[in-house]
Amino acid sequence: MKVLVVNAGSSSLKYQVIEMDNEIAVASGIVEQIGSENSNIVYKHDDKKYEHNEIVADHITALQKVIALLCDKENGVLKDISEIKGIGHRVLHSGEDFTDSVLVDENVLKICKKNKVFGPLHMPANIGCIEACQNILPGVPNVAVFDTSFHLTMEKDAYMYAIPYEYYEKYKIRKYGFHGTSHKYVSEAVRDWLGAENCKKIITCHLGNGSSLAAIKDGKCIDTSMGLTPLEGLVMGTRSGDIDPAVVEFIATVKKVDVQEVLRILNKESGFFGICRESDCRRVCKLIDAGDEKAKLALDMFAHSIKKYIGSYFIELGGLDTLVFTGGIGENSDYCRKLILTGLECLGVDVDFDLNANMKRGIPTVISTEKSKVKVVVLPTNEELVIARDTVKFGNLK
Ligand code: ADP
Repeated sequence: MKVLVVNAGSSSLKYQVIEMDNEIAVASGIVEQIGSENSNIVYKHDDKKYEHNEIVADHITALQKVIALLCDKENGVLKDISEIKGIGHRVLHSGEDFTDSVLVDENVLKICKKNKVFGPLHMPANIGCIEACQNILPGVPNVAVFDTSFHLTMEKDAYMYAIPYEYYEKYKIRKYGFHGTSHKYVSEAVRDWLGAENCKKIITCHLGNGSSLAAIKDGKCIDTSMGLTPLEGLVMGTRSGDIDPAVVEFIATVKKVDVQEVLRILNKESGFFGICRESDCRRVCKLIDAGDEKAKLALDMFAHSIKKYIGSYFIELGGLDTLVFTGGIGENSDYCRKLILTGLECLGVDVDFDLNANMKRGIPTVISTEKSKVKVVVLPTNEELVIARDTVKFGNLK
């Protein structure tokens, strides 16, 4: 049985077709820069990659193009579109309405539309793709898998902001957290791998272009670093992470710009980029190799922000069994892992730094020593697989 996974960003659409019998992706790709003159379509299957430029006006057109590629007589992986038995959609925000994934019906769509306010760039694309699939593939179940719902198990003292209470009551302003599918996937995978007794208290570090940490106790998220939006928390590729909110007004005044512009700067021109003019971690590492002090500072600040969260989650969890690294940086950058892990000895963390530097990429690996009180693990994430599994479960696919 095949499931289509759709991950729509504000101007991109990532997709995968997953064969659920063996949970392997048979095709994948991305449509980038939707709505611009530089749209780019990538389609991959069986180690072959096709890429071409073509103007793609909107997400609906992007989906139509993807389906045409999947069903192409020569290079397609589907004989017919009816091979797709369910469609899983990554949806940015659940609000407080969905504590888990959900089969889409009219009411679900209505609630998602109400929650557009939490993700004005992403939610319209997510909803647009669901509606397009309902039109293009009538009768095929669509399942919404939310980036935030894994974190809805947090207690009120963890998720409330200390601002006037009625803002929560009226507008639902609170911490939600993101990367939920990834935190869920790696926390479950590590439990299956190392055994539940070694994974009662876990911190998962999803480190990529966007980064977040989650504290997970007995399988339930009790705290996470992102907030109402993905801007809160760690220093990231282009996002500032935590700052004094008064900085917003200060920048607005000295630069003579409005609040929206300040938020754009904090989202798009800050983080690694703000410090060293480079947002991609691999390129920041190259600058460091070339002796660039600001690039070194950017990653030192990144590691510092992560250590602060690890320390506070250690207390919240009442100890720590397992620390998991995932995401593009967490899985691949031994330099960043070393920066983060150095100094955690006080928590009982003892790392084999040779193994950290030489481990094989893409394979789950324990990089702590036998005597470490905390298991430190590098584990590749697979958000698409979580979405596909939930599509089977909530779409009642047999
Ligand atoms: P996204 O958050 O967009 O899903 P990813 O999880 O794919 O992103 O992570 C992308 C980040 O991972 C980029 O900053 C990239 O430079 C970084 N990365 C990937 N491989 C390496 C590596 N070998 N060393 C350092 N950083 C890496």
